[in-house]
Amino acid sequence: MGAWDDKRNLVCLEPIGMAHSWSLETYQRIGGYDAWKKVLAELTPREQIIDAVKSSGLRGRGGAAFPMGVKWSFMPRNAPMQKYLVCNSDESEPGTCHDRDILRFNPHALIEGMAIGGYAMNATVGYNYIRGEFLGEPVPRFEAAVKEAYAAGLLGKNIRGSGVDFDLHTFVGAGAYICGEETALLDSLEGKQGKPRFKPPFPAAFGLYGAPTTINNCQSIASVPTIMRKGPQWFAALGPANSGGTNIFSVSGHVNNPGNFELPLGVPFADLLDMAGGIWKARHIKAVIPGGSSVPVVPGETMMKVNMDYDSLKAIGSSVGSAAVIVMDETTCMVRTLERLSRFYMSESCGQCTPCREGTGWLNRTLQRILAGQATREHLGLLLDVANRIEGHTICALGDAAAWPVQSFLKHYRHEFEFMVDHGGRSIVAPDAPRGAQVAA
Ligand code: SF4
Repeated sequence: MGAWDDKRNLVCLEPIGMAHSWSLETYQRIGGYDAWKKVLAELTPREQIIDAVKSSGLRGRGGAAFPMGVKWSFMPRNAPMQKYLVCNSDESEPGTCHDRDILRFNPHALIEGMAIGGYAMNATVGYNYIRGEFLGEPVPRFEAAVKEAYAAGLLGKNIRGSGVDFDLHTFVGAGAYICGEETALLDSLEGKQGKPRFKPPFPAAFGLYGAPTTINNCQSIASVPTIMRKGPQWFAALGPANSGGTNIFSVSGHVNNPGNFELPLGVPFADLLDMAGGIWKARHIKAVIPGGSSVPVVPGETMMKVNMDYDSLKAIGSSVGSAAVIVMDETTCMVRTLERLSRFYMSESCGQCTPCREGTGWLNRTLQRILAGQATREHLGLLLDVANRIEGHTICALGDAAAWPVQSFLKHYRHEFEFMVDHGGRSIVAPDAPRGAQVAA
């Protein structure tokens, strides 16, 4: 038995492995909806629920890591108008696939979390905005679970005779990465083209249809029922200070056993890599992007000494981000990898602000030029200059997301870029391969 076996799947993925883990019956067998029923029976003071979420240490799992209870406290819950709770299941950060598994395998945790959150913030209507590509299994499973919850009298009007209302709707996006940004998501939900809004005003003051709105990530909301059932202190104690609870790490890349691993924050990266079967083909680790494609890359030897929590990853210049852990082995060409990432951000820029719209194209074209063997060392300076001019100068975080990989790849692997420039487009990891050829199977 491994050291972390008894600490796996404690919160959002708890019913994984049980027959029909997505059904109401299975969810209720592990205590599902107990917290919601208790809230309804006691009409728990709203402040008390928000305080519990605050003291659990739960931070937004979508990437921003903002304390969830604090965000809930921003909702003007006594304002005499409709208020909304919106779940962001538009999971699109490359490498990230944990919300998909919550929708597939434990949708009732999300529904119960939405109901409790809606009550705590006095929002009687909720929307779950789901990524368009999830139409195969996650959307039908979630919608079937919502139907089950309505049929069981756990959603709707005057739920269980409590006088509390909460209606929950599904909305399926059209596959744009930018709609994962909370205000673009709201525009998309309103039927407009999804483009980030200027902030302020923040959604808590002017959100969906101009009404007070709280937007939380799917995993964050799905964590709430367990926090209420087992207590905020239990949840907080799972991880180190500042990093309460568990996170689902989506491990991909050059490992033997890629997948989702729900573990306490603070798990050593070396243990996580071990659980993912180690580096494939008996090769060595070269680099890791520890939190989704937008966070800075970290050399493998540094990662092997770090724990997977907010403070530890910040200390080495990266971030937990969306907990998508992308592992690269020694055969990876870092120039080609960066070109692939930059192409993604160029394609997904919504085009509203000049530094992002023009800069992401400049980054990608410059990298293509390096790969084609048509660049000089001056182009490396140009890359960095463009990235620095994008960072912090855009409406939303996509600009930073495009800049950070460039800055970090050049910081740690500049010699690979210089080698390619000096050798007419040949990669340092396979200097005899044809120019610009794909390296790393
Ligand atoms: Fe659009 Fe990029 Fe500006 Fe974000 S940073 S609003 S994606 S142009």
